[in-house]
Amino acid sequence: MTTERPARLHVDWTACDRRGSCIELLPELLDADDWGYPMPREGHRDLSVDGELTADVLTAVKLCPRLALTLTPGS
Ligand code: SF4
Repeated sequence: MTTERPARLHVDWTACDRRGSCIELLPELLDADDWGYPMPREGHRDLSVDGELTADVLTAVKLCPRLALTLTPGS
């Protein structure tokens, strides 16, 4: 039996400078907290990324000016 794990998006808040482009690109996944940091809408530290959003997530990862976003492939 195999267990498939979805891709995961990790936000490194220690690197983030709250510019917010990721929130604009990924409104389905992220919202801003009271200080402007991107917060997962689903409440987990690392977000599950389904196939439909993968291209947008990759764009957000590439455009993050602080390299604060990491997408870990699923298995
Ligand atoms: S794009 Fe990067 S630096 Fe900007 S808010 Fe998102 S994680 Fe932070």
